[in-house]
Amino acid sequence: MITLSEIQNTLDNSDPAFTEQLAQKAQSLTEQYFGRTISLYAPIYLSNYCSSHCTYCGFNSHNRIERMKLTAEQMHKEMAHVAQTGIENILLLTGESYKATPPSYLKEAVYIAKQYFTSISLEVHPMDTDEYHELFLSGVDGIAIYQETYDRNRYAEVHLSGKKKDYDYRCTTPQRIAQSGIRQISMGILLGLSTPAEDLLALYTHLRTMEKDYPGVEYSLSFPRLRKIKGEAYALSPIDDITLIKIICLTRTLFPRVGINLSTRENAALRDHAIKLGITRISAGSNTSVGGYDLKDSKDQDPQFDIADTRSVEDMIQYLKHENFDPILTDWRPVETENV
Ligand code: SF4
Repeated sequence: MITLSEIQNTLDNSDPAFTEQLAQKAQSLTEQYFGRTISLYAPIYLSNYCSSHCTYCGFNSHNRIERMKLTAEQMHKEMAHVAQTGIENILLLTGESYKATPPSYLKEAVYIAKQYFTSISLEVHPMDTDEYHELFLSGVDGIAIYQETYDRNRYAEVHLSGKKKDYDYRCTTPQRIAQSGIRQISMGILLGLSTPAEDLLALYTHLRTMEKDYPGVEYSLSFPRLRKIKGEAYALSPIDDITLIKIICLTRTLFPRVGINLSTRENAALRDHAIKLGITRISAGSNTSVGGYDLKDSKDQDPQFDIADTRSVEDMIQYLKHENFDPILTDWRPVETENV
């Protein structure tokens, strides 16, 4: 069983030889279980309406930004734009407003996305099991749901109002997703919100419980760091690059088979390094504004957070090939049952 002191000692140990040994172990396990494959995905923001107030997020209900929700026609434009880059794994995101983006709206988005992409994941407001089941039947493969922090006091300090304020409903969401039939769940914490070692221990414990109770689900983890929003910093306990790398490596040694995601909120140099150690899935060519790919000029955009790695999908593919990795645009395709 993993202990808090084990995690804390790993994060605190500044001996380069220790870090090197951890990195080598992580690299070797990643190659053993994933080969040299790196999956690529892209996010598409469908809506920035949000009824919650999280102090660290540009979409929060108190922020005066232009609110927008893509129509079906606009979804087609954004999705066609992303699909022509070769991306086949798509992550559809919204702010957390059940009223603006109910399950019926999400189902319509999934229906349209299926015309462009082979794999569809959502990062949206938490729902009940029957609603997830409906989304599963409509073609959703995965859901990303991050607890942000497992520290209840800190959680209450940064989630001021709205549905997201309900710690327990959020924390039990992975369970409801697993019960709905959806086959992939991505869990995570927002680094910078609270004490990293304690949050990591809680996340690892949560994941172990999920693996035990729902072994048929494919799990992945994400460790986003708080980013600036329009130049303003919100992190209370910033996580430096070496600590993030250690977190990725430690996670790999504890969970050899679990995917680890890294988004474009991290810069190119750090991503290039992390890919070689434990990352298995990265976003590329991302835009974090609603309508940001095809509908709005960059000066009119209100991104959820600033992008640090601005390389295109093609740039990432070329980089991965150059480094002897195998970039994966799709790792499965649905089989038409009438042809079986
Ligand atoms: S983190 Fe999610 S719930 Fe919180 S303000 Fe941003 S979009 Fe809304």
